[in-house]
Amino acid sequence: MSRGISVQAVGLGRHYRMAGHKIVVLEDLGLTLEPGERIAVVGRSGSGKSTLLHQLGLLDRASEGSLRLGGRVVDGLNDAERATLRSREIGYVFQAHNLLPEHTAMMNVMLPVLLAGGSRGVATQRARALLGAVGLGSRVAHRPGELSGGEQQRVALARALVMGPSLVLADEPTGNLDPRTASGVFDLLLQLNQQLGSTLVVVTHSKLLADRFDRRFVLDEGRLRES
Ligand code: ADP
Ligand code: MG
Repeated sequence: MSRGISVQAVGLGRHYRMAGHKIVVLEDLGLTLEPGERIAVVGRSGSGKSTLLHQLGLLDRASEGSLRLGGRVVDGLNDAERATLRSREIGYVFQAHNLLPEHTAMMNVMLPVLLAGGSRGVATQRARALLGAVGLGSRVAHRPGELSGGEQQRVALARALVMGPSLVLADEPTGNLDPRTASGVFDLLLQLNQQLGSTLVVVTHSKLLADRFDRRFVLDEGRLRES
């Protein structure tokens, strides 16, 4: 009973124009994921991994090519439609946690629900459950600055999952953590993803962490190659 969404990128390209030069980051990139599939993406720094996740997460528009999420072509959607789809279907974990420093862990996790029009009661209930699931039941009133790096990333994980997304994108989610803490956060990500059944794309620098996935891809020269 997978809740995951299919992903299909065809001929995806992302170019930038800088001072008259064309910088090609993604070129003719293809990717097909079945609902609920989990993959790791590795690649050297600057190879375009974040750019690719921004594309899949509808945070950026492609220069060329086409993207389908759940069979729906998203290329022609306007910004409002993309924002709605993002809020309903996509959970994003950034390398830097991007938590709001003035808010508690609880409020950081509640916010996506409130912004989507959910009630305070529902937001509280879901946020409490998820913070408990990531082992932070006793840290709900802490602000990000009062939490360790690993704890901050676990709050970010809870925030990414609070809307029950069908696609979870994680951009080097443990890149700033020591190996042992990273491994723990990674375990949580995989475990919660398993319960949710969502499709999962994780960018990681770590060969060890990438090896926990059935399918691994290398991003090189703008394209994905399965390894
Ligand atoms: P990675 O995440 O694999 O380290 P990125 O996707 O962040 O790589 O960046 C890939 C390349 O795209 C880099 O060379 C970077 O300089 C370039 N790039 C990223 N964003 C922009 C931008 N807004 N304008 C111009 N170039 C960019
Ligand atoms: Mg990056």
